[in-house]
Amino acid sequence: MARPPVVPLLESRAGSIWRLRMLGDYVNGFLARDPDGKVTLIDVGLRWSTRRVLDALAAVGSGPSAVTRIVLTHAHSDHAGAAAALARRTGGDVDVHQGDAAYVRHGRPPPRSGFGRLVPRVLLSFPPVAVSAELVDGQLLDVAGGLRVIHTPGHSPGHISLLHEDAKLLLTGDAIFNVRGVGWPARAFCTDFRLTQQTAHLLADLDYRLAAFTHGQELRENPREAIRDFLRTQRPSGGEAG
Ligand SMILES: [Zn+2]
Repeated sequence: MARPPVVPLLESRAGSIWRLRMLGDYVNGFLARDPDGKVTLIDVGLRWSTRRVLDALAAVGSGPSAVTRIVLTHAHSDHAGAAAALARRTGGDVDVHQGDAAYVRHGRPPPRSGFGRLVPRVLLSFPPVAVSAELVDGQLLDVAGGLRVIHTPGHSPGHISLLHEDAKLLLTGDAIFNVRGVGWPARAFCTDFRLTQQTAHLLADLDYRLAAFTHGQELRENPREAIRDFLRTQRPSGGEAG
């Protein structure tokens, strides 16, 4: 039996948020709906994920025309791949942090480190798309009652996490994964792995009761403790467990 394309994370009078399963639980986006029906998509998967996103919209009872905004946590092909097709299909604006905006406009990945430099750029590129708004740290997005932009650079220059302060819901983006437990994104695909490790500590200090990830399932039990425990075992220099 096919597993549902969406997993509910938040249902409140201020709005609803679902995790959108793009590829099992390995690649996720999010779908947020305001009380007036307006939908914001947060990360939209690989370039062939368009159908999956449209199915997810149908599953929550919204059509493509309800989408007013597509927010990207960063300019990687497994997050921004379907942005151009979905922007065309829905008419929604595409918003990304100013540090990644040029990469989205050109459909190019940000620089990688180590082995990542050897991966041909063409494999990581994605259809370019116009950026409407360049986001900045601390900005409050008018989405499902308010999503705070938390700039967590390192994985990419303009990588962001998002925090719903009222509902205490954290969307980590690729700052931290939850595949086979809480862990780091692949070092080779980080622009600056050391900076990834440093800025992840910002997430330890935020206030949340539910953490959802772009890679892996959400943590519903003591997510802050799980992330703090993980970070405590890490040394910010070499990257291996300390
Ligand atoms: Zn990424």
